[in-house]
Amino acid sequence: MADLTVFNSLSGKKEVFSSRKKISVYVCGVTPYDTTHLGHAFTYVSFDMIIRYLSYLNYEVKYIQNVTDIDDDILKKAKETDKDWRILGEENFACFLDDLQWLNIRQPDFFPRASDHIPEIISLTESLLAKGFAYDKNGTVYFDVSKDREYGKLSKINPEEMLTLLMERGGDPSDPNKKNPLDFVLWQKQKEGEPAWESPWGKGRPGWHMECSAMSMKYLGMPVDIHGGGRDLIYPHHESEIAQSEKATAKTFVNFWLHTAMLYYQGEKMSKSLGNMVFISDLRKRHAANPVRLMLLSHHYRQEWQYSENEITRAEKLNDLFKKVWLVQSGIGKEIEILSFRNDFFAALNNDFNSQQALQVLEQLANISLKTYKNITPAKAFLNLAFNILGLRVEY
Ligand SMILES: [Zn+2]
Repeated sequence: MADLTVFNSLSGKKEVFSSRKKISVYVCGVTPYDTTHLGHAFTYVSFDMIIRYLSYLNYEVKYIQNVTDIDDDILKKAKETDKDWRILGEENFACFLDDLQWLNIRQPDFFPRASDHIPEIISLTESLLAKGFAYDKNGTVYFDVSKDREYGKLSKINPEEMLTLLMERGGDPSDPNKKNPLDFVLWQKQKEGEPAWESPWGKGRPGWHMECSAMSMKYLGMPVDIHGGGRDLIYPHHESEIAQSEKATAKTFVNFWLHTAMLYYQGEKMSKSLGNMVFISDLRKRHAANPVRLMLLSHHYRQEWQYSENEITRAEKLNDLFKKVWLVQSGIGKEIEILSFRNDFFAALNNDFNSQQALQVLEQLANISLKTYKNITPAKAFLNLAFNILGLRVEY
């Protein structure tokens, strides 16, 4: 089998995935203050397919996905709905799990919560202070980006672009306590009425980027083989994770950075601020799970695409095509030859997990099987294997 090549956002190119047999994967998880939308589903279905394929290639994968159970969004929503932040988080997290299960997404080995890792977060912050990469100002601890010459190596954007993105993504570049507007919070001083934990700098709570570094190191060590998430996490989240992890330990944090593309809807990027979200709970009322998963896998994980009714209609038709194949009884007569389809299918997945091309191969195989051959048993057997790898359910 040809080598697996994977696009690494850090190098900006495809690299041969050479790794140990046992590999570690960390994917940034949800902040459970709302229900699952299609953008989440695209990210987690993509990583589920990637992990299933790595397992098929005999890698032993340890997979961690965090839960950001304490942050500004959760606390704001808890206030609005007059709920305890913990209850709000666990309720939404339970809905998220149910949506993942519906989409046939395998669970990670563990879903660590940020609020359960305060000691690890404090200790990492202490290392950065001790090494001079951080400073404490009035009870909030910041990472000092001026001390890190490599800051920007993942996002490859200049400080002006960073500032623009910080404003869009809820950063606070105008915080007067910061030495530099791009400095980011490692430990946030308690704000009035908010939950807080004791620390050497007074009561407070962890910074968002810090939780992922602490939990990734605790469960997977360094370096992690694959760290992933949506493309909107590259800056500031992942850029800052790299900075704090590598400066605290002087080790490489991650070997391969993988990022999923953003989704569009009604001509705009699907986003909370524009209000053009498609929720899985709504899709579940109108569609079966397999067509939704087929629709998501019909797009390569790095390719931006636009959701529309046509997308789901096309996936429903594809699903019907596969159902017809399963219903064909084994027959005698001309037997289908599947070797070239098999080669093309694996070549697609070996080429940066291209599920879009892989599904096109399966569609061709299904069409040819139904039109031309009497005995399609080998095609059914191979489609069954391919469905397992892609996490599709065999339904008829
Ligand atoms: Zn993260």
